[in-house]
Amino acid sequence: MSKKEHGLQNIFTYEIDGNDCLVKVCANWDQFAEQNEAKNLKHPGIQGKNIFLQIENNETRQIYHELFKIVREQRKHVHFNYRCDSPDTRRLMEMNLLPLEDGHILCCSKMVRTEQRKPFSILDSTLKRSSQYIIMCGWCKDVKTSAGWLQIEQAIHELDYFDVAIPPKISHGICSKCMESFGVMIDNLKAAVHAQKR
Ligand SMILES: [Zn+2]
Repeated sequence: MSKKEHGLQNIFTYEIDGNDCLVKVCANWDQFAEQNEAKNLKHPGIQGKNIFLQIENNETRQIYHELFKIVREQRKHVHFNYRCDSPDTRRLMEMNLLPLEDGHILCCSKMVRTEQRKPFSILDSTLKRSSQYIIMCGWCKDVKTSAGWLQIEQAIHELDYFDVAIPPKISHGICSKCMESFGVMIDNLKAAVHAQKR
């Protein structure tokens, strides 16, 4: 782990109510929001905000809607992995969605593994951005290129404006691989419920 990573808390939690609004966040929330490129959700003023206002991508919103529905209606604990990289570190995270009373959900995100790598300016949220933009998968951090969705380390060879002093803006989407795996996961969760009911 790098020095910067050292002081990092490994678990971040927040709670949403039955209307998907944030009601409680952990003490280290600001750090979490920053890592997830959700700076406008920093303290103060986040209480009561709808979590879906933060999600720019329709498919990603749809996946969260489906998962929250399963957690609330079936009172099921749902978990999945995602990536939350810093410029010089690959970070594998695990999100746990736990049902609480009254349709509330506890969202608990924990760091599973980190790996150091060469730093990439594209992931440095403090840098100024050019007018160009790239599409990055919000779940696995792969980048869309003319050669398909590639890991950041490979995408750099395809996109020459990528790792520069003024990097392009990032627009978040979902890659075909994540789309498929979440589709399978949601279908399986729904099928398990139907099997239980029978
Ligand atoms: Zn992906």
